[in-house]
Amino acid sequence: MTECVDGKNLLIQGGIVITMDPDRRILQEGFVAIEGGRIVEVGSGRAGDRWSNFERVDASEGVVLPGLVNAHAHLDQTLFRGLFDDMVAAERWEPMVRFAERQTRERAYAGARQSLLELTRAGVTTTTESYWVHSHPGSMNGICQAVRESHLRGVLARALNDLPTTPSRFVEEWEDVSVEIDELNERWGSDRLTVIPELISFMRAQRDTAAKVEDFARQRDTLWACHIATGDIQATVNRTGKGLTYYLEDLGVLKDNLLAAHCNVLYPGEPQRMADAGVRLAHAPVAQLWQGSPVADLMAILAAGGKVGLGVDGPLTNNSQSMFETMKFCIFAQQQNYRHQLVANADLALELATVRSAEALDLADEVGSLETGKAGDVIVLDGNYPGLRPITALLINLVYSNSDEAVQTVVIDGEIVMKDRKHTFLDENEIIRETEEAQRAMLSESGLAGELKEKQNWVMP
Ligand SMILES: [Zn+2]
Repeated sequence: MTECVDGKNLLIQGGIVITMDPDRRILQEGFVAIEGGRIVEVGSGRAGDRWSNFERVDASEGVVLPGLVNAHAHLDQTLFRGLFDDMVAAERWEPMVRFAERQTRERAYAGARQSLLELTRAGVTTTTESYWVHSHPGSMNGICQAVRESHLRGVLARALNDLPTTPSRFVEEWEDVSVEIDELNERWGSDRLTVIPELISFMRAQRDTAAKVEDFARQRDTLWACHIATGDIQATVNRTGKGLTYYLEDLGVLKDNLLAAHCNVLYPGEPQRMADAGVRLAHAPVAQLWQGSPVADLMAILAAGGKVGLGVDGPLTNNSQSMFETMKFCIFAQQQNYRHQLVANADLALELATVRSAEALDLADEVGSLETGKAGDVIVLDGNYPGLRPITALLINLVYSNSDEAVQTVVIDGEIVMKDRKHTFLDENEIIRETEEAQRAMLSESGLAGELKEKQNWVMP
């Protein structure tokens, strides 16, 4: 059962409107008219009388963009923020799992709310989720509740581990998880929110589970997700002597409904195989740099015609939730990959954070650009924010010298979700307090507080 979300009437008047439409129009003194939650006109000059009774946003000193689309996230991970940094991977895994085992539905909700607050303040109107901490039954309900209350659009993956090598508390059966995903959609599904399945990793799943998950997603006409990182690829090569795409093909899942996060190591020819199959890449460059692992060869995947979205990843491995920061890292990482051959540019970063992410999430008809007929998801930045000035090279500045602080107003389906950097529906102080309390409780219950404090210079007593 899907619930219809009523959209609002709103006129955003003035400012520089960066449409990200197919002609990449940039309108001086533009306007965006939204009726019943859908964009009905994007133009220049003063809007006609037709919308004179609509609620108004004065953007005359502003920069107007489509709401940003975050293609990879772990919303609950504000709970983990800062605890497992500056450690080598071998040191991190055991305490991280011990900490994760203390997660409950309420704590998942608290962590997700903070992440959603941060994403909104960063201009994100559509986010994904990849939720893998299933030590407490029903905790995905906490994520769904948080997303609904935030008013953001969500493509939320409920992940699965079904191999005994996984930490034992996280091992589940696909048959149970598939029932839960249907129940989650029944309860929380709407025009804005969909729950999809995910294999958290091929190394943590039975060989035949991927095909079941793919079939489940295809029957429901949704995507399914998976994480594919360096370790999976190495294990695949060791097992098959071939690269990742061959392994996926063997499993029968190298198809167009797969949203694959990271894919940071692909062998020659594999970007083309992925693109030809229609596989969607959720590119999360900051997390790769955080881990010191290779960053996906984005340029090869794009040159092959692949669908690519850009994601901030979770606060555990980013640690911020800033799409603007991720855009900058994304381009700089490609320049580094190619030893500064100027292969990538700011225009590409803006495309990745808007239209390309929308396409990767199968939402290209809904979001990602300011065009008639699309959902009224719009953000307004302060055009006088120092990092955007001088304004001559605005598109460059948006990517390389901007910060989330410039985002003033966030609109979703024509409804003002943030105004003057204050969320309409979420209580910022309450969220920060509850996340703080949840993290401290999890540290205490897992017995990690003293242990981790010795490794890091904490201010917490
Ligand atoms: Zn991830």
